[in-house]
Amino acid sequence: MAGQDEEIGHKLMRMLLAGNWKMNGLKTSLSEIRALSRALADGPIAAEFLICPPATLVAEAAKAAAGTAVAIGGQDCHPEAAGAFTGDISAEMLRDAGATWVIAGHSERRQYHGETDALIAAKAKAGQRAGLSVILCVGESEAERDAGRAISTVTGQLAGCLAGASPGGLTIAYEPVWAIGTGRTPSGTEIEEMHRAVKDHLKERFDTEAKGVRVLYGGSVKPANAAEILALPHVDGALIGGASLKAADFLAIARAAPRR
Ligand code: PEP
Repeated sequence: MAGQDEEIGHKLMRMLLAGNWKMNGLKTSLSEIRALSRALADGPIAAEFLICPPATLVAEAAKAAAGTAVAIGGQDCHPEAAGAFTGDISAEMLRDAGATWVIAGHSERRQYHGETDALIAAKAKAGQRAGLSVILCVGESEAERDAGRAISTVTGQLAGCLAGASPGGLTIAYEPVWAIGTGRTPSGTEIEEMHRAVKDHLKERFDTEAKGVRVLYGGSVKPANAAEILALPHVDGALIGGASLKAADFLAIARAAPRR
């Protein structure tokens, strides 16, 4: 196994557990971030933590999490730094509000906002330009998996979305579209197969620097399945939607993460 791992530039990295609140959360929800930060301070859990609240809460969330183990990120950004783009938010604005991360290419942005790989590549590049760490999301639909095209779909998305990106501060989230918010998850074998394919692609694209790029799994991760998923050797953490809204659930997932 060691030889194979070396081949794809795999190394065991500290886990990243990232919460995506989507369009959920009011100011009262900041208490969940405070509760999470307090609980993490009480006992060391060997992982990095990130919450991506809606844009309206980024500044307040960054204040609430300041000096704690929890980082704050945006869920999306515009490719430009500033300009006549009503309703949009730039990576520089997120950074100014206290974010240190941004998500690019979530499947809900692809599905409901028609985001293409080229646009997502520009957003990922913008995040890096602003000094943010970027989580780039990729994942196949159910029809693509059923047609035996899961791996080619995901590697195609990677090829399209990584144009112009650098490996520093980059994280990939493999999120099968059919697993997001559905309670369904791929088997451990399917997750491992995909993560290895993603890491192979990263190795081809970034050579030895690919070793520093974490590959997260996302899609219906919850306390009940976290231990099994996070124990998979090529899973470097998770992107968590619904179960990140409550500190207690997020913590239960964090406690299931193996020490690395
Ligand atoms: C997500 O929003 O990225 C996600 C994985 O959602 P959920 O955990 O709710 O499936």
